[in-house]
Amino acid sequence: MPNTQAHTLLEQAYQQILEAYALMGYDTQRDDNFRETAQRAAKAAQELVRPIAEIHAEIDDLVSKTFPARYDHMVISKHNICFGLCPHHLLPVVYRVSLAYIPRERVVGISKLSRLIRLMARRPVLQEDLTHELAELLFKRLDSLGSAAYIEGLHMCMAARGVEAHEARLVTSAMRGIFIDQLPSRQEFLDLVTAAPLQLL
Ligand SMILES: [Zn+2]
Repeated sequence: MPNTQAHTLLEQAYQQILEAYALMGYDTQRDDNFRETAQRAAKAAQELVRPIAEIHAEIDDLVSKTFPARYDHMVISKHNICFGLCPHHLLPVVYRVSLAYIPRERVVGISKLSRLIRLMARRPVLQEDLTHELAELLFKRLDSLGSAAYIEGLHMCMAARGVEAHEARLVTSAMRGIFIDQLPSRQEFLDLVTAAPLQLL
């Protein structure tokens, strides 16, 4: 459910951005391509960043629907592409996220892991924090034996501006439980998720 007060503020802000671009010589006030751009941009911004209360509520819902675990092997959800926003520049980030956990008694459906990843990314959050929070969630909320998160991020603040380092990928990983203690589990996970590097462009 979009927050109307947030929408209004965002729309006003984008209107001001258009005015700034007009000062930079672009005809944002009369060119038809910019008609209702502030409105559309505000809507897009609210799709990129979800209200935190909604995210928490959906996560509670996701982790509450678990099934008895039939085995204690590694469960992996690999190479999930999702989108977020960097808190330093408010520019989009394309993530490729891989998660694994070793269940103790309960598992979540594999599609739920993809939803969880997409949900957690839709915040203005540092990739490093996102990585640790995902590992923590799978470890604590699923009461698992261990969890691992591996994220590659293509940050528009790195790729599109200034130095145009469009090959730049930020790689982060986080481990919990037996992924810290057992080198073979950690290596198996890393081998599986790093097999093919992120190729987007
Ligand atoms: Zn940034």
